Amino acid sequence: MAELTTCSGAAFDRAPFDALLKRRLFFTPSFEIYRKASGGFAGDIKGLFDYGPPGCALQANIVDIWRKHFILEENMLEVDCTVLTPEEVFKTSGHVDKFSDWMCKDAKKGDFLRADHLIENVLEARLKGDKAARGVEAEEKKDTGGHPTNAKKKKGAVQDVKAVRLDDAAVKEFEEILARIDNYDGPELGSLIKKFDIRNPDGNNEVLPPVPFNLMFKTSIGPSSGSIGYLRPETAQGQFVNFKKLLEFNQNSMPFASASIGKCYRNEISPRTGILRVREFLLAEVEHFVDPEGGKKHERFEDVDRIELVLLDRHTQLAGSTETKVMTVGEAVRSRVIDNETLGYFLARIYLFFQKIGVDLKKVRFRQHMANEMAHYAADCWDGELLTSYGWIECVGCADRSAYDLSVHSKRTGEALVVREPREQPLRIEEWQVDIDKKKLGPKFRKNAKAVEEAIDALSQEQRETLGQLLTRDGAINIDVPGLPEGKAELDRALIQIVRRTRVENIREYTPNVIEPSFGIGRIFYSLLEHVYWHRPGDVARGVLSIPPLVAPSKVLIVPLSRSPGFASHVKRLSGRLRSLGISHTVDDSSASIGKRYSRNDELGTPFGITVDFDSLKDDTITLRERDSIKQIRASVDDVLGAVVSLVCGTELWTSVLKRLPEFIGQSEDE
Ligand code: AMP
Repeated sequence: MAELTTCSGAAFDRAPFDALLKRRLFFTPSFEIYRKASGGFAGDIKGLFDYGPPGCALQANIVDIWRKHFILEENMLEVDCTVLTPEEVFKTSGHVDKFSDWMCKDAKKGDFLRADHLIENVLEARLKGDKAARGVEAEEKKDTGGHPTNAKKKKGAVQDVKAVRLDDAAVKEFEEILARIDNYDGPELGSLIKKFDIRNPDGNNEVLPPVPFNLMFKTSIGPSSGSIGYLRPETAQGQFVNFKKLLEFNQNSMPFASASIGKCYRNEISPRTGILRVREFLLAEVEHFVDPEGGKKHERFEDVDRIELVLLDRHTQLAGSTETKVMTVGEAVRSRVIDNETLGYFLARIYLFFQKIGVDLKKVRFRQHMANEMAHYAADCWDGELLTSYGWIECVGCADRSAYDLSVHSKRTGEALVVREPREQPLRIEEWQVDIDKKKLGPKFRKNAKAVEEAIDALSQEQRETLGQLLTRDGAINIDVPGLPEGKAELDRALIQIVRRTRVENIREYTPNVIEPSFGIGRIFYSLLEHVYWHRPGDVARGVLSIPPLVAPSKVLIVPLSRSPGFASHVKRLSGRLRSLGISHTVDDSSASIGKRYSRNDELGTPFGITVDFDSLKDDTITLRERDSIKQIRASVDDVLGAVVSLVCGTELWTSVLKRLPEFIGQSEDE
């Protein structure tokens, strides 16, 4: 469950960016007035956020594109399942026992810290300190012509970092540990903490050895406390338990995928990275059910074969490196870097989704899970990671969950979660078959008869062969039956026969494997915002969010130059026409300068602005301004609205509109 991999990465000035998101109400900490009230909250109420108007619109647009890109384009079966889940389901899936992270406690202050993050933060700070110390040394050498004795003392060379020199071997060791950090289990994390004397950075106290902490929120369902339930930490189980109905809905045709978009809940140990690690978040998940035989082929693989991805495979990480390779999906699957076609297909589709919503593709990589990091049943797993100022962030997990989930739910409930398909050629199987005389079995074993029968059914072919020989030789055999008083049942030849026969199978029965791409919408939302944030040269105060028109919260800003009645009716007409075209827009008829009005909307990521000026009233022309280039064209209302529609739908680029409609060099934005 390691997702935030920090790296010294991109130089990004987070303070003005955070201020912009806050000022424009993209999102805000939940219950803030209570946090600020005297006394605040008792306990730890972090990791909860509310989205404001532009945040809601951007999130809804990302989800809308996700739905089109996956559910519609691939004919997936969407379901919306309940969040509240009875304990039995998560016991079966393994979440009650295993859905945990390793946690350390500050022995003195009582702070709880996630063990892998603690090690990561401390080692990274030490590496930074080493870099700073080396930087100072180099500077000193330059200043003194290489004579350290003449060195001038440099103060404040690097802020917030204690400049402490490490030896080269320690630097190498720390870098290797960081490359493998997601692969350590609790005891290994404990050893690293001891070995490197890692302490709570807040107060420098020692921490206790890591213990597992289950991330699920427990509750009770109904007024009695007897019915334990959990808030789901993923949507997947709801999809698995409905598998049989979905397969029938799909006319028993394979392969097929279900999908679900909904809130999930994880009681994160110490969330500190804003909306990247929260306790309630929106997840969009696909469960693609595939036949495990025949290499998990995908019929549309050819469409993505040549797409190049940046890959960080598990061998590279285990060797202590984070060097990536660029490979086409086709090459990666054929050389088994990626386990199979269906998994490769979805990695490529994830990449195309990132492209569609405007993620910076230079900041995308796919990182393979190392053996310990992966669930024990998973065949292969890759994280779609985006680079942000917090480092590489796991935004999408894409796992091959094999047949695990369907098998365990089937075993627990007795419901056959399998596919049955007619065979093209009947299959002839030579096997040992057991014939039981049930008329004798019942009276002999009475209430234990069912358990005896189940134990016989569960015998493997090898056991049947051996027992068959013993039965011929001795006339009777003993088989293990756990529920019986002696733990065994004696069966003689009158009761049981074991014979070798040929069985003809016309129907093939199998449990499908599952490929699961799982998207954290909040993480994608945040990373996208960092990727599209910039400010105009020399103007740090005026941030711009270059959100692509397709996902921008609002597409058009209408700016009338005057508040007189003639303008108002013009604006009303324009607004009505945009509304009927389904283009979201706002009107800013405040008295602020035109430049100020536009820059307020640059901060909201509004891609286009329409100015209604005095000429508009005379000749019904308007100007259209594009946010990133701040270039404008002037044309009739019909032409401009036509251009807006094609720009917003993505069928035309601004460069093409600029070529076909006359550019307008009019009033400056500072007016
Ligand atoms: P996982 O099932 O752990 O692979 O998580 C699936 C996806 O959920 C991840 O790729 C993240 O994008 C997202 N996610 C997991 N935990 C959190 C969290 N605490 N806050 C926000 N997003 C999360």
